[in-house]
Amino acid sequence: MPRIPQTQGDPPPSDILLDVRDLRTHFRVMDGTVPAVDGVSFQVRRGETLGVVGESGCGKSVTALTIMRLIETPPGEIVSGEVWFDGRDVLQLSQDEMLDVRGAEMAMIFQEPMTSLNPVLTVGDQIVEAVVAHKKINHRAALDRAVEMLRLVGIPEAPRRVKQYPHEMSGGMRQRVMIALALSCDPKLLIADEPTTALDVTIQAQILELIRKVQAETGTALLLITHDLGVVAETVQRVVVMYAGKVVETGTVDEVLQDPKHPYTEGLLASIPSKGMRGTRLNVIKGSVPNPFRMPVGCRFHPRCPYAFDPCPDHEPPLDEQGNPERRVACWLHTKPPFGLEHRPRYGTATPLAVEAAGEAVR
Ligand code: SF4
Repeated sequence: MPRIPQTQGDPPPSDILLDVRDLRTHFRVMDGTVPAVDGVSFQVRRGETLGVVGESGCGKSVTALTIMRLIETPPGEIVSGEVWFDGRDVLQLSQDEMLDVRGAEMAMIFQEPMTSLNPVLTVGDQIVEAVVAHKKINHRAALDRAVEMLRLVGIPEAPRRVKQYPHEMSGGMRQRVMIALALSCDPKLLIADEPTTALDVTIQAQILELIRKVQAETGTALLLITHDLGVVAETVQRVVVMYAGKVVETGTVDEVLQDPKHPYTEGLLASIPSKGMRGTRLNVIKGSVPNPFRMPVGCRFHPRCPYAFDPCPDHEPPLDEQGNPERRVACWLHTKPPFGLEHRPRYGTATPLAVEAAGEAVR
């Protein structure tokens, strides 16, 4: 059982592949500073699947880009924290060292494959380029690898398709190529950032199934970033819920989805439309995500939370253990509040869920 958090500066135990500790990535722009990632910690074991969930703008993609050291500086800046990957803190590596790690040991797939595939190279050449650079094998062997990878991700007629350009393929096919490219060097960690959001529902299911199958076959650990709790339920073992740049809840997928403790997680789950809701109004979480230039003091969720009480607007809740080191919640309802304040809602609505009816009917 991993210990969370690890001692600052010490590498994690060998079964922990990725150990993100108190990570802070901020963006300095003309209007001020955006604390996009603000004290985020979590771990991924070797071969494990971890889902990072939250609404747009909660910091999950910036967390992934920071792990990959792909944050554009300026305006972005990794202010503090540690990112231990396979025994090394990648934040301490040089750009050259990072080039060896990226692609070969950790790889990333994005929502829109055209942003990462090169439009002027055939898909085969792109895989060959990556494999030759990282695996130090000759062109012939790398081309065989490219065909093998296209077959692995279910692309028919792989020897012919390997000579095609990205624009000659459908969106679903391009996403398969990106997965093939990402896995071509046998990375230990695959980061998938909303990999199915841009695809239609049928293709989404196929790509998720493919990611699950390939991940199980190759033993690659998976960090899946998504706003979709349905995708999480089907794909991952453990979950990290983020809100306004912070982790607010962690646990196994069953713990988080069946027994959510943070009011934000509760609201996210209540917002999922179901068949029985046809013709009724959609539930949504009350209010909107905070202005990143003016994050609320105390618990960042307090302006939207129906359970908010005395300590919430002034004191930030710690991400406290709930029975085991991996089950954590940042909410004063589950932690003894400071300064003798009581567990007593002051201006809560006393409704069971942090939701309100939206004006839109489920079709
Ligand atoms: Fe935050 Fe308080 Fe609501 Fe918990 S009860 S989520 S601490 S506002």
